[in-house]
Amino acid sequence: MALTISSPGTISLIPDEYVSVGAGEVLLQLNYVGFCGSDLSTFLGKNPLVKYPVIPGHEISAVIHAVGADVPSHLLPGTPCTVHPYTSCGKCTACQKGKTNACQFNQTLGVQRDGAMRGFIAVPWQKVILAPGLNAQELAMVEPLSVGYHAVSRGQVSEKDTVLIIGLGMIGVGVLFGVLSRGAKAIVVDQDQRKLDQALQWGASEAYLSANVKDVSPDVIIEAVGSPVTYRNAIDWAPFGGRVVYIGYALPEVAFETRWFVQKELDIKGSRNALAEDFEAVVNYLRAGSFDLQPLISKIIQPEDAAQTIQEWIKSPGDIYRILVQWNGRLS
Ligand SMILES: [Zn+2]
Ligand SMILES: [Zn+2]
Repeated sequence: MALTISSPGTISLIPDEYVSVGAGEVLLQLNYVGFCGSDLSTFLGKNPLVKYPVIPGHEISAVIHAVGADVPSHLLPGTPCTVHPYTSCGKCTACQKGKTNACQFNQTLGVQRDGAMRGFIAVPWQKVILAPGLNAQELAMVEPLSVGYHAVSRGQVSEKDTVLIIGLGMIGVGVLFGVLSRGAKAIVVDQDQRKLDQALQWGASEAYLSANVKDVSPDVIIEAVGSPVTYRNAIDWAPFGGRVVYIGYALPEVAFETRWFVQKELDIKGSRNALAEDFEAVVNYLRAGSFDLQPLISKIIQPEDAAQTIQEWIKSPGDIYRILVQWNGRLS
């Protein structure tokens, strides 16, 4: 079976067939698949990239079930893995510069094409990421943490830096882990005191409620919310000569006092998805046991509970880091 969002507001389970595996493909038995904020946006009809109906899901913990012809021999049935859920055309200007994460024609699993909220899925073998030493739940969180890590790479964060992180959702936490794993200092800002407290537990040096930010002097600001207010905060809080990285995806237009771009001579960058090297960095720090991921697992549910759980999520989005759906390769 598979979970499908047939139109905004409508999510249901549909029968799914046992997928056959083609040449160059690996058939994966899904174990846990995480619900992402982008899946929630799809359900709410607020994801402009999505085509309905769509099977959501791109945060994958799976086991290799079968391999097709022409697949390298290190990909053996029974091996746990996660998946690089993006595509790249190889031809657009971004791809030609090696920025395959920002491919103009990217199709993310569960967004522009059907995703992984199902019992089995076949993927090209090149998309399979082995991560020995990680448990099944950790595997499902590698992708969102990698998206946060990519912003840290974009900000060229080194151990000399202090980084101010705006927003402690899952992606902001990925930024926090990335910053700390590089030996840099993290200052975190959020509207939720519980998230600030948790970030301090993980190793942030300072934590502020959004309204209380003052006297901070970071080298880098990373915005991981995507609201007009936080987009402007990033510029206001940036130091002279500083770096600003945006991951938050703001839908409304945002007005800026652009003189600060010039007067502060800011380096302003966007950050989208993640590269293979970001996935690798995340797997490495998780394997080293650097961070306790348990606080990130808000709920583990069965596919039958998805519709109900999404309704609860809509009511209190701030209470959820990640909901993992447990598939265990179920076909019915
Ligand atoms: Zn996601
Ligand atoms: Zn491309």
